[in-house]
Amino acid sequence: MQQRIYLDHAATTPLHPQVIHLMHETMLNNYGNPSSIHSEGRTSRALIEKARKTMANHFNCSIGEIFFTSGATESNNMIIQGAVNGLGVQTIITAATEHHAVLHTIEVLEKERKIKVIYLPLDIEGNPSILSLEEHLAKEENKKVLVSLMHSNNETGTLLDWENVGAICQKYDALFHSDTVQSVGFYDIDLQNIPVHFIAGSAHKFNGPKGVGFAYIRNENAIPPFQHGGSQERNMRGGTENLLGIVGMALALDLAMSEKSERFAHLEKLKLQLFNGLKNVIPGIQINGPGLENSHPKILNIGFPPNPKATMLLFNLDIEGISTSGGSACSSGTDTGSHVLRAIYPDNQHVSVRFSFSHLNTSAEVDKVIEIISNIYRN
Ligand code: PLP
Repeated sequence: MQQRIYLDHAATTPLHPQVIHLMHETMLNNYGNPSSIHSEGRTSRALIEKARKTMANHFNCSIGEIFFTSGATESNNMIIQGAVNGLGVQTIITAATEHHAVLHTIEVLEKERKIKVIYLPLDIEGNPSILSLEEHLAKEENKKVLVSLMHSNNETGTLLDWENVGAICQKYDALFHSDTVQSVGFYDIDLQNIPVHFIAGSAHKFNGPKGVGFAYIRNENAIPPFQHGGSQERNMRGGTENLLGIVGMALALDLAMSEKSERFAHLEKLKLQLFNGLKNVIPGIQINGPGLENSHPKILNIGFPPNPKATMLLFNLDIEGISTSGGSACSSGTDTGSHVLRAIYPDNQHVSVRFSFSHLNTSAEVDKVIEIISNIYRN
């Protein structure tokens, strides 16, 4: 069987073996409903609360600020809708490079709730203009504003200077939400020191299970319940908790953070190796987004010069056993191009491929990818 090379870790990651083991053990031993008061229920409840403590410790926040959800799509919906419905937000400032979990939620609020939406201009690295943010906040001074800007862009690896954004939001008394899906497990997120009110994460981006995530909601910004039902998640999200997912997520985060420095250095090395290798064999490639140093080390988005060989590149790579992506994984499975790249480079004719690495990739795999792409171009 063909040995495949998986370079789509920004879309999802395989489960860590220790996470599989823990989930399996939990599956075998803990079936109690965490809301039941008998022994089985109390054991499940204790596992959930232990996981919450683990997560809260990593983010330096209180356990009451972590809410378990089905993933970052739900968390982003919960936060943005909650800010409008419960905190009186009338204006949202964001950027066209956000994930659809944020953009589509905002679009619905704009249409149905007549919320004013401002999209910040972007520079060629995909950074939203901080100057423009401040100008808009100054103009909206008498309104309640939510600023929603992600920490790491999932397609280009562009990183937000969130200390700066947070400080500006504080100055104008605006709420600050950051989609941190691609950052959790890779960066230290110290919520006592970063002036952010809400963050969102998904376990499957850091070798945890799919279908589980969390929302962080700063204590003083309590928002109304998102899903009605039982009193789970302190009334915020009714429904029996995803026990297996939650314990798996907490362990995955623990593992990611304990190996963070080694993983980071490894990712940086692979990214540099791939870029240098491709540059040597294919003249005219460009990096979409920031340069090599100033971006998330797991993401390298390359624009290949327009050429008949480049048109079917993603497809040809897949046939050759290499999994990459043209942008974020689309739920319909169809490739409609990247809204992120269109927003940053409206006139770009390059064919773009996002390579996204993990600690599991090797230097030999990167060499193989360079060789295969070089062959595709030569033949
Ligand atoms: N936000 C970002 C930046 C993402 O990359 C993703 C997943 O691709 C999401 C939100 C949505 O996460 P999920 O599909 O796990 O809900």
